[in-house]
Amino acid sequence: MSKRTLAVLLTAALCISALAGCEKRPERMEFTTFAMDTVMNFTLYGSRKDCSTVQSVLTDRLAGYEDMLSVTKEDSFVYAVNHANGEWVEIPDDDILALLYSVQGLGLVTGGALDFTAYPAVKAWGFTSGEHRVPSDEELEELAEKIDYTAVKLDGNTVALPQGMEIDLGAVAKGWAGDQMWKAVKENGVSSALLDLGQSTIVAVGTKPEGNPWRIGVVDPAQPGNYFAVVELADMAMGTSGGYQRYFEQDGEIYWHILDPDTAAPARSGLSSVTVIAPSAFFCDGLSTALFVMGLEEGVQFWRNDPNFEAIFVTEEGKIYRTAGLEGRFSLAEGYTDREVVVLK
Ligand code: ADP
Ligand code: MG
Repeated sequence: MSKRTLAVLLTAALCISALAGCEKRPERMEFTTFAMDTVMNFTLYGSRKDCSTVQSVLTDRLAGYEDMLSVTKEDSFVYAVNHANGEWVEIPDDDILALLYSVQGLGLVTGGALDFTAYPAVKAWGFTSGEHRVPSDEELEELAEKIDYTAVKLDGNTVALPQGMEIDLGAVAKGWAGDQMWKAVKENGVSSALLDLGQSTIVAVGTKPEGNPWRIGVVDPAQPGNYFAVVELADMAMGTSGGYQRYFEQDGEIYWHILDPDTAAPARSGLSSVTVIAPSAFFCDGLSTALFVMGLEEGVQFWRNDPNFEAIFVTEEGKIYRTAGLEGRFSLAEGYTDREVVVLK
């Protein structure tokens, strides 16, 4: 190689590395918003312009979802359905139509452990108003009789409920919103983001900008300020349900917000939390609630019949179970490394 050729090659190499150095690193944007009764945190990586667009799209959409799905806002779609006295109500758009079919479908799949008609019971326990009370056995029996997701009638773009029944999408709304936002984030040019819809629903959009998976803590149900494990997620959602998320205490008993549709009372299945990891946040949210109701044995059987998701179960005694597919993506957090983890196969 002549000296001249070498000089030309070196100059070319220098130019290329200079250009690479100039390539814009994605900017990090973080914002917090309060929606659906929850503080939500979003971390986005991308150009400043794309991140700002995503921020305004997400904020607008979240407000819209709340206006449609709130059980208490008197002008919401769900409120209209619950106060229609058996009349048909028009479903506002195809996304909500799909949501209603999906939540009814997940009810069917989980044998009714997820039942979006549990609302009269949720209200009776005071979880909506915060004025907690323990209903009598007779009252609970009557309430349980009225819980039946199969009685919700869907026809074309209309929905109707039998008199006395009320729906509540609280067990799936954040997951559903997470999926909608996942799509919106990508459509607006941001391919790396972490959508934290109040810890119980997380969407890891793509990977971290340098290509590593997102590392997400799993809350210790016995000490909700701590994480007992870390799960690595890339283009994946995670949902957690647990009695610790909303509860009250009366006469030394703890009563939480996840109800067993068969009894209309808090589900006491021996679990203190369930985490589901899958490519749909709706599925994670709905299924984590349902598995919490089912309990460990039935929940594990459910997973064996349909192993298209990963799960972490924590029992009331603090025993940890995780599915085999989390190998290499699950680790115990600092302070928990001496805990036994049973691997489900
Ligand atoms: P969080 O909203 O705290 O993340 P979940 O996703 O587990 O909790 O949903 C619990 C909410 O769903 C309750 O607050 C109640 O409104 C409703 N709900 C309670 N039990 C059930 C059930 N078995 N099926 C469907 N919805 C339920
Ligand atoms: Mg849920």
